[in-house]
Amino acid sequence: MRRCGQINFNERDPLTLDAEAWVDYFASLKVDALLMGGGGIVAFYPTEVPYQHRSEFLGARDLFGDVAGAARRRGLRVVARMDCNYAYEEALRARPQWFERNRDGSPRPHGESTWLFKTCMFSPYFTEQMPAIYREMNRRYGPDAFFTNGWPSTGELTVCHCESCQKVYREKVGGVPPETTDATSPLYRRYYAAYMDRIAEVWRLWDGVAREGKADSVYVGNLGGGIRVVKDLWRIAQAAAWFNADHQGRSGDTPIWDCAQQGRVAQAVMKGRTITNVTGAYSNSRPVWRHVAKPAAEMDLWLAQTTASGMVPWFHWLGGSPEDDRWREPGCSFFQWLAAHEPHFRNRRSIADLAVLFPQSTIAFYRSGSGPSSWRGGERAQAAEYLQGLYYALLEGRFLFDFVHEKDLGAETMSKYRALLIPNAAHLGDDACRQIRDYARAGGSILATFETSRYDEWGDARPEPALADVFGVVPAGAPIGPTANSYMRIERPHPSVSAFQGTALLPGPENRVPVRARDGAAPVLTVVPYYPAFPPEMVFPRTPRTDEPAAVFRDSGGARVAYFAGDVERTFWRSGNPDLGQLLADTVQWLRGGAARLVSIEGDGVVEAFAWETEPGLALHLLNYTNPNMTRPFVRRFYPIGPLRVGFEVPPGRSITRVEGLRSGSPLPFRQEGRTVRFEVPSVADYEVVALT
Ligand SMILES: [Zn+2]
Repeated sequence: MRRCGQINFNERDPLTLDAEAWVDYFASLKVDALLMGGGGIVAFYPTEVPYQHRSEFLGARDLFGDVAGAARRRGLRVVARMDCNYAYEEALRARPQWFERNRDGSPRPHGESTWLFKTCMFSPYFTEQMPAIYREMNRRYGPDAFFTNGWPSTGELTVCHCESCQKVYREKVGGVPPETTDATSPLYRRYYAAYMDRIAEVWRLWDGVAREGKADSVYVGNLGGGIRVVKDLWRIAQAAAWFNADHQGRSGDTPIWDCAQQGRVAQAVMKGRTITNVTGAYSNSRPVWRHVAKPAAEMDLWLAQTTASGMVPWFHWLGGSPEDDRWREPGCSFFQWLAAHEPHFRNRRSIADLAVLFPQSTIAFYRSGSGPSSWRGGERAQAAEYLQGLYYALLEGRFLFDFVHEKDLGAETMSKYRALLIPNAAHLGDDACRQIRDYARAGGSILATFETSRYDEWGDARPEPALADVFGVVPAGAPIGPTANSYMRIERPHPSVSAFQGTALLPGPENRVPVRARDGAAPVLTVVPYYPAFPPEMVFPRTPRTDEPAAVFRDSGGARVAYFAGDVERTFWRSGNPDLGQLLADTVQWLRGGAARLVSIEGDGVVEAFAWETEPGLALHLLNYTNPNMTRPFVRRFYPIGPLRVGFEVPPGRSITRVEGLRSGSPLPFRQEGRTVRFEVPSVADYEVVALT
């Protein structure tokens, strides 16, 4: 599957939906698969399964059958979009044990559609009712796949007090878990394990039921969440044949690269297996307007990030009778372009020699008490800021990198990477620490910050950070911060600070761990502690010079280690001060030693780049984020950049005969010297894919 589309039915659609016209539209996008409403909350076919609510507008119509038939006639695969999360009051009365309960026993109505009630995944609704519905659809239609909206998701665990859950608490957890994520609680930890077990059990059950209909059918759940995940994605990916990221758009102050970042997260756990990402054509901002299109440029750049990061785009509209048709043409033109160049999007492997640790347990569980003491609401977003800051620095530095999951740090994954970059992974399990140690011992370079490895994966503090010796430091006290300011003093020359001419001071991190260098070497950067910023009369350093290292750089033969005692990457993200991004980028470049970049890109602009070995050859994907709406939606128009001068190191012995810009549709002049292929990309508006064959 290279492209897919979805028409998301509403209950009233059986009255008016034109099956042929809709399938014509999606066929014009050259999709391989079409998703359409099947059942669960509302059945869009004449179901006989008790307590599955038939659309009250269904009448004699079989809407699922009509659309599925029209799709099949055009050679499209049919995916039944299901919803397992809510059911009607009729079901609640007849089968009360299917539903989530509050502590007082009351059911949980939907926030907006209050006549629907939340079902419980530990209940037989998931193991009996949903399979009964799948089997009925298997018999009637033989769908090629089932997809469940909204489940399991990657967000917070819910706590329910239904009979089934009470049994889980009694038998597996040993008490009632806390209402919210609180990894300091042993009860919560056992609940988390039971919850992940149940997700895997249900996923496998449903996948098996899908395959009863057709041997090559498949079940896919709903994931996503970008970098902000609580549930164990690594574990879910072990059960998943297909990862769907329901990451439809952005709102608030989410940076534009949120979709490409989602692709990197999913790649880290799926490792080449199918990943789809949903692009909502509607305006999924806050407020969310389901029936108004988002700007075409935003939609386009989201689709471009989907394919650049190696995911399959899934284009989505809600409701069969749109009164806004502005989304149709932009989706169509992107998909048709994609189809015309399909082989170049069949990736064999990512070309990158830098690995960024995806610190899932830190993002899920790092909290006040175990982290910076001032954290209050929005904690997960804050825990993701370490990764976000490092990410931004890597974009500015134009590096090619992959995410690697903290449970996947063995030699078979890590041996291709020259360096492992660790954004404050405060929570890191013993296995991960051992593997990082082995990686360093085998010659891998490492960047790490702040409290990395201070706690185990759940947040239990270790006597000292497990990797302190690898980082070359001895902790010298509890974390300090957040401070209103601090500085770093440049004490001596080093490649990491060579860009800073004309200053002895750099902006310092908001939080830091006091450390000493294990080898006693004179530091490159020292800490200048906080002093008042107001009023101006008081603004002078009380302690202008210390010997406390702000960073420790070690070079032991091939392997290099850079450790920042402060949260420089998070402070970079929060402050936007480019010195910190430059410091990180130059440190990454130093970690790579003298090695030439696999791909170098020169020229102005904010660019995210991916390089892939593809079935026909090689491909370089360039995303142009140079836009006033880079960090606040929506992108209204593009501001083209270029020319970009590119040097691409091709595998040894590979001779390139053609370089072509797939978006511009024109061959690019190039020359090859040894392994380096040089060419110029004249202009990038939104996205360019350069194919080297
Ligand atoms: Zn329950």
